[in-house]
Amino acid sequence: MQDLMTKIISLTKQRGFIFPSSEIYGGFASCYDFGPLGVELKNNIKKAWWKEMTMKQENVVGLDAAILMSPKVWQASGHLTAGFADELVECKKCHHRFRKDFLEKDSCPDCKGELTEPKKFNLMMKTFVGPIEDENSMAYLRAETCQGIYMNFKNVLNSSRQKVPFGIAQIGKAFRNEITPGNFIFRTREFEQMEMQWFCHPKEADKFFDYWREERMKWYLDLGVKKENLRFREVEKEELAHYARRANDIEYKFPFGWKEIEGIHNRGDWDLSNHSKNSGEDLKYFDEESGEKYFPHIIETSAGADRSFLAFLSDAFCEIKGGRTETTESTKEAEYVLKINKSLAPIKVAVLPLVKNKPDLVKKAKEIYQMIKSEFFCQYEEAGSIGRRYRRQDEAGTMFCITVDFETLEKGDVTIRDRDTMKQERIKVSELKETLKQKFNV
Ligand code: ATP
Repeated sequence: MQDLMTKIISLTKQRGFIFPSSEIYGGFASCYDFGPLGVELKNNIKKAWWKEMTMKQENVVGLDAAILMSPKVWQASGHLTAGFADELVECKKCHHRFRKDFLEKDSCPDCKGELTEPKKFNLMMKTFVGPIEDENSMAYLRAETCQGIYMNFKNVLNSSRQKVPFGIAQIGKAFRNEITPGNFIFRTREFEQMEMQWFCHPKEADKFFDYWREERMKWYLDLGVKKENLRFREVEKEELAHYARRANDIEYKFPFGWKEIEGIHNRGDWDLSNHSKNSGEDLKYFDEESGEKYFPHIIETSAGADRSFLAFLSDAFCEIKGGRTETTESTKEAEYVLKINKSLAPIKVAVLPLVKNKPDLVKKAKEIYQMIKSEFFCQYEEAGSIGRRYRRQDEAGTMFCITVDFETLEKGDVTIRDRDTMKQERIKVSELKETLKQKFNV
């Protein structure tokens, strides 16, 4: 299955989804850049999540907190103490380092050498704020986005007139000094999270845990991820993070095995009570109707934008051995089609003149491109044979190709080709925008 991963990585680079960071200097360990198509796909994933949380769900509002926060936040949250540390072991022979909990045996997986005793390794990334680099100016890059949400619990409550139960959603970068990053963008040191914290009455925490667990699984399914590639995993008691009372992971079957893409956690009152204790600010909620005052319990849904990117991409990736029949110059080579959900597809429509050396055709194609590009992410492409251009667009996951041919000039219609079925229909140029709106349900 690593072979499949190699093909996916190579396609993402060729088509401009993902590039290794700082490549001309030999790269920078486990850091990646999202190229022209990658940034569209990632934005579409984040937009779909944001819409789901702040529009479809009720009583969830958005937030965008700063990455840098007072170090006191991380002291109180338990991230600076043993709570947020992995156990690191090193091979005495080849000096490769591993996370102890990832090892199946007590010897080095690379050279079978003897391993050192495990050492606790804190995952927080450090920086300095201001011109003097000393203990007092030390700050941390946030290791999870949710702490910014807890810091603003009272602000949001007071300014948006929310009542418990309600939620706060946030998308943003998080940083962890992972010991063993890897599997392409699956585990990196800089990544993006899409997190929602749901504040509820302690008695309702179990009910909402079940609710959010189901809703979150449905989100992936509605966006076309295959059911057989998704599952829940109940996290064992001894594996639970320091703040969690219960956790369910949503796992995806990657080419390298079943792995977590999202965690649903019951964090109890860990966060609000600890921040109250440490800051001196009373973060209890006062229920005006019942007169009860309590720390709301928190149900968290924590998804990785990069990990779900990789899940959507792997799920959509299709290799067709021997190629699809339609291409004019069938090479019998394997063809790749990215059958990604239409709302996530980076390019919605490509406009292709049948040939590039007929000025009338090119002019008409450019007119059509201008007509639709402000409403649908659109690409104009004229280089290469039409078969080759279809293949390139299939690899990019482009939903529809519109071909402008000689009949277009005579009859005012174009061919619209569906990526998945390869079916071609003739459509009047005057009806094109409406047809596309229907096809994309907008
Ligand atoms: P793991 O056990 O894989 O290290 P975790 O349980 O520590 O993950 P959480 O703290 O629950 O992860 O973070 C929530 C989500 O954030 C994860 O489900 C994942 O999608 C994403 N995430 C966490 N760490 C990374 C990372 N190093 N690189 C990319 N995404 C990550």
